[in-house]
Amino acid sequence: MPFYTITELIDGYKTGRFQVLDIVSEYLNHIDKYEPKVNALITVIDKNKVLEQAKQADEVLQEVYKNQEVNTFFKKKPLFGIPIIHKEMFLTKGVRTTAASKVLDNFIPPYNATIVEKLKQAGVILLGKANQDAWAHGSSGENSDYGPTRNPWHADYVPGGSSSGSSASVMAGFAPLATGTDTGGSIRQPAALTGLVGVKPTYGRVSRFGVVPMASSLDSIGHFSLSVFDSAYVLGITAGKDLNDATTADIPVPKYTRSLMKFKGPGHTTWLKGIRVGILTEGFKEGIDSRVADLVYSKAQELRKFGAEVVEVSLPEIKYGLPLYYIIQTAEVASNLAKYTGVRYGNPRSYFGSEAKRRIMLGNYILSDVVEGKQEATTYFKAAEGKALLINKFKELFEKVDAFILPASPSLPFKLGARTADPLQMYMSDLLTVPISIVGTPALSLNAGFVNDSGVILPVGLQIATNFFEEELMYRIGIAIESISTPVIEEFKTHGFQEFDKVKPIKLV
Ligand code: GLN
Repeated sequence: MPFYTITELIDGYKTGRFQVLDIVSEYLNHIDKYEPKVNALITVIDKNKVLEQAKQADEVLQEVYKNQEVNTFFKKKPLFGIPIIHKEMFLTKGVRTTAASKVLDNFIPPYNATIVEKLKQAGVILLGKANQDAWAHGSSGENSDYGPTRNPWHADYVPGGSSSGSSASVMAGFAPLATGTDTGGSIRQPAALTGLVGVKPTYGRVSRFGVVPMASSLDSIGHFSLSVFDSAYVLGITAGKDLNDATTADIPVPKYTRSLMKFKGPGHTTWLKGIRVGILTEGFKEGIDSRVADLVYSKAQELRKFGAEVVEVSLPEIKYGLPLYYIIQTAEVASNLAKYTGVRYGNPRSYFGSEAKRRIMLGNYILSDVVEGKQEATTYFKAAEGKALLINKFKELFEKVDAFILPASPSLPFKLGARTADPLQMYMSDLLTVPISIVGTPALSLNAGFVNDSGVILPVGLQIATNFFEEELMYRIGIAIESISTPVIEEFKTHGFQEFDKVKPIKLV
């Protein structure tokens, strides 16, 4: 099984131990074998084209070795020869981009999203476009118009959503890197449900230009990887000001991996010296599966071994996160989806699925309050005040602690079909991720261990939240937790792909 981290691959290419063609072929063969049952991809790029690209990459490397320019070359092309899968929300020039909705079934973008372009310049090789909940509405992947995606750990379970295909792709070994969008948890929750590292950067840290918008004041661009180091490495490439996205921050991008390279492993007792980490009480209360809560709680306690001070903190207002989110988000979704009329491109509005219709109706209802005969959108503005309140509460909290920890998902991965009949129950999946989206601060989701649920081994995800633009600290805490946790790849080699031999292919495309 091809389970390489990006760091391993780059090292292998630098030393000539790996050839791009071999690596890419390994991933493609693995996709051939498992994709019909996982259904993580809406488009698989033409194999011959990809192999040709890989061959050319090897030729480039031969020249680089000959001229002894290895380090300078990889500085310019830090992701050279790295296979990638982009979420279907990302516009890819000449490659169909549907947002997993039949409305855009035949849409071929004329340009690349900024992030697609940046990663391409860094040297990635695109293998496919990932399945997702249509328009990124959902927490399970089941809202896709191209069929649901299975969780690579066990065929009966969902991989989380809305970035279902991105999370499933990386855990299934289809690529070491996949992009995602996180509006209310769509990277952090699927990362938790599949055992991966998923990053939702500060709002405005990474460009959204060329990414199908969901709710513009919340959308954040991030990615999935197999290690904390890889996640930091990639964020160093994607982050930064973009003239095409006015919401991107003009703040220098730190070299996130520089400090991580100094980490000496589980015995590094001073690694987090001077750092105060809060355990957020509200993340461990009723409504949270106790197996998830216990595992995350004990992991957070273990940060003391690295010199961190660990304290309990409380933020009761976090409970407003979910209601605020379902006001602000649906209002913005209704506005953003208004342009899909089928007039300029795509299919007519009748192609919208039921979840998009539900959000369009809710959003337009919220935006249409009439006060004294005038349309005032009072509810939306009230929610904006609530957002301001929550931001202030977070600021107060970050005066007491440098970071706080809570579960990423209130439950273990759930079974396909378990929540589809009840949208409210599905919305509850976002309980612990949306408050952070409302505020706009960053958060990292990573594996905290596994639960044996009547013989089924399922991953549990932990969330590390820090203040605006403090992604570096988030990664420093993350790498410490990773070093004292069960290695996910090893666990997957023994317990991955459970029951896949019994299921039929679900590909609908
Ligand atoms: N699950 C959330 C929702 O359905 C979050 C979606 C997202 O982050 N794109 O709205």
